[in-house]
Order: sequence, then C-alpha cells, then structure tokens
Amino acid sequence: MNLNTCTAHELLDLLKQGKTSVGEIFSSLLTAIKTFDGTVNAYVRTARSTEAAPDAKVPIPVSIKDNINIEGWETTCSSKILKNYIAPYDATVIQKLRSAGIPILGHTNMDEFAFGSSTETSCYGPTRNPWDTSCVPGGSSGGSAAAVAAGEAIWALGSDTGGSIRQPAAFCGVVGLKPTYGRVSRYGLIAFASSLDQIGPLTKDVTDSALLMNIIAGHDTMDSTSAEVPVPDYTRALINDCKGLTIGIPKEYFIEGISTEVKEALEGAISVLKNKGARFIEVSLPHTEYAVSTYYIIAPAEASSNLARFDGVRFGLRVQPQKPRKSAIVDMYEETRDRGFGREAKRRVMLGTYVLSSGYYDAYYLRGQKVRTLIRRDFDTAFEHCDAILTPTTPTTAFKIGEKLNDPVSMYLSDIFTISANLSGIPAMSVPCGFSKSGLPIGFQICAKPFAEEMLFRIAYTYEQNTGWHKERPSLKAGGL
Ligand code: GLN
Repeated sequence: MNLNTCTAHELLDLLKQGKTSVGEIFSSLLTAIKTFDGTVNAYVRTARSTEAAPDAKVPIPVSIKDNINIEGWETTCSSKILKNYIAPYDATVIQKLRSAGIPILGHTNMDEFAFGSSTETSCYGPTRNPWDTSCVPGGSSGGSAAAVAAGEAIWALGSDTGGSIRQPAAFCGVVGLKPTYGRVSRYGLIAFASSLDQIGPLTKDVTDSALLMNIIAGHDTMDSTSAEVPVPDYTRALINDCKGLTIGIPKEYFIEGISTEVKEALEGAISVLKNKGARFIEVSLPHTEYAVSTYYIIAPAEASSNLARFDGVRFGLRVQPQKPRKSAIVDMYEETRDRGFGREAKRRVMLGTYVLSSGYYDAYYLRGQKVRTLIRRDFDTAFEHCDAILTPTTPTTAFKIGEKLNDPVSMYLSDIFTISANLSGIPAMSVPCGFSKSGLPIGFQICAKPFAEEMLFRIAYTYEQNTGWHKERPSLKAGGL
C-alpha cells in the first residue's frame, strides 16, 4: 500500500490497528518527494528531523505554505527579499498543530507573497500540476495543493486572500477550505491583505478538512481580528444527507468564458445533491461584476502597506548599491526593494500606493470599500432564501505554464468566482467534481453564512460520499523534467 497517497483519517485508522508506524508514513512521504519533486517542485524546504512525540494524538505530518512562520525555519513567502529570514516564533496554527502532535513536513512553494493564481512568480521557480506537468497547479497555494495531489503530502495548510486555497484545490483535484474571516488566527501568517487573508486546509477529502479545522480554528488573543466564537466539532457535520437544505445558484455566475466542461460538471454535482434531498433555487448577487475590480483596489492597497516593512533593515535581504546615489539609507532601501521584489510584487506595491495616495483615495480606495459593503449585502440577502450557495470554483481547468504570465488581467480573472467570499468574509470550500476530457480536475465551490463551516462540510461530504472523484490520483512519472 502507498501510505503517502492515503488520507490522514485512513492513516490514523492504520496506526490504531498497529498496521503502520509514524516512521513508515514519514519515509513513504520522503520517498515520494525524492521521486517526484524534481518535476512537481511543490516544496521549498523539508524538515530535517521527522520525529513525532510518542503520545501524539494526530501524528500525521502536515505541509505548510511558505508564508506561515515556523520557529527556527527560513520562512520566505517564496520571495528573494526574505531569503535567510529565520522565523523567531511559531504562528498560532503551528503551535496548535504541535500541541496535537502533528509533525511539520516542509514549507510549500507559492506565488511570491501570495500574489498570483499560478505559483509561477515564486523565486524558487514554478510548481507543476501533478495531473499534467505542462500546466500550472493554480495559486498562490500551488505548492500545498500539488503536494497533496501528488502524494508528496498527506494534508497541508494554505492561505486564501482572493482564492489562493480554493483555486489551486480545484486545479489539482483536492478539497480546499477558506474559513470565515476570523475563524483561524492569522498570527504568524505573513500578511498580504490583512482584511482578507485566512489560513485554511488543503486535503484529499472532506473528512480530513474537518479534522484539520478542529485543530487550527479558534480565538487567539494574539490576533485581534480572530473571533470569539466557539469551535464546534466539525466531524459531527459529516452527514451524508442534504434533506431540508436549500442551495442557491447565483444567476450572475454563468458568465461567458466559463467552459462547457466546468458547466457540465456543476450540473452533475447539482443532480447528485438533489438526489440526496437538496432543493435548488436561483439567487441573485447583483454586484458580482464589481468584485474583481474592488479586490484589485483593496488587496494591493493593503499589500503595499504590509510590504513597506521589507526595507532591508529588519528582515532578510539587504543590498547596498555600489555607487552612492542619494543617501546611504535611501540607497539601501531602494536597492534592496528593487532586487528583492519580483515584477508582480512591484506591480502590487505601485497599484496600492496609487489608490491610497491623497488625490485618489476617495475615488478608488474609499469607493472600493463601499462596493465591498454592497457585495457583502448581496450575500446577506441571498442567505435569507438559502442555506448555501453553489458556484464553479474557476471558469476553466488549469492553464498552461507561461500562458497568462504576461497578461495580468487575464490572470486576475481566474479568481472571478472566489474573490467575493473574501470581500464578504464568508466561508467557502472547493470540492473535486470531475475531470475535463484532457484529464484535468474540476471543482465546485460551496459558500455559506459566516461561521457556518458545518454547512459546507455537510454538503461537501454528502457529495463526496455519493461520487468517487476524491479517490482519483494522478499517475506521475519519476524523475526530473
Ligand atoms: N490570485 C489572487 C491574487 O493574486 C488571490 C491570491 C490569494 O488569495 N492570495 O491576489
């Protein structure tokens, strides 16, 4: 049996029955990484020691996106500017994993500072999609999604600011959950857009997602935006039945540009859920058409302020130019930021600084905040009529490496269905629901009211128990490219 392709809950059962050991699980993962990561490039660094405490409750190794601080580890957001930055503390999610006895397997590749939808902007080179290595895995948590899909990880954490967990989950055929804003502590997550960022699980199935949420969710005094809402046992929401549930389909989401294969897979999902008792209605989210532009004002604005701290003084890279230009300190700031940030990071800093500048603040940033409220109200109104909302996760399946790299607008549009959940703060999950003719995974997205993650788990679990997509694994060839 290949332990590395098992789910965490399957491995926990095997451990309980004494059929395997933590050591065996680790070595099967390390072998998979050695065999496939030359091609997939999902990891930027792996653990040196792989021990789990003997009394660990859940000793199943987890892989962590490279923007979550792990004490004593280099943590770089896959950016040159943070090279050699060693995290002096554990993020709250890492502390929580450690107290459950979960060992950390490695840091996974990502778009630089989580700016992107393809994991191509990493300073460590692109991650490849395990289902077709000429395609992107999505992003920005592409390393986490690809590692889970390739059997190089059992489960993983990512972060989602505009779709960065759900879009790669859909492209790689795994389950990805963005929790409600405030559900999981952001302490120790290197900030991209602080009012949108959330950490969440990428897993092989819905049960593992619930198990991981049980461990990472909860209030944290170190994050003033984390919510004091009790954490339920999410595994109790794994119910194979949708009787009495009303699911909304937003009419604005069936735009031009959505592929027929994605549409057909979604129709298939609707009929599975109908058979299990769900009732479907049409709902309207009238401000959807403004979501991408609103996001690309608010997210870069917050990113430009968050990135101001990377100036060569306190973290990572410091470069002094050869010839003096202005003053020693200004020269150092400029040279460090010029050499340290990639093209997309620079683009975001410029966009963000522009929309926040005094002459343009009202026209862009303030107006963006107002439209954000309208988008959130659309969801409030829709949820008066339904328990959850079903949409495609992405308009198409994974695109080719290089295809959108020089066309930022078309890259930005790949998050058209995921961004609204971040702007509204609601939880949303991507669930595998089929494959295209060329063998690339497709996912649907399910959204619920704030703190109603249990609704997502119930609907996703029902779907999963009545289909077999989550059991499919890619057949990767060993070796380099
Ligand atoms: N792709 C979106 C962006 O580039 C979302 C990224 C994310 O969720 N971190 O900003």
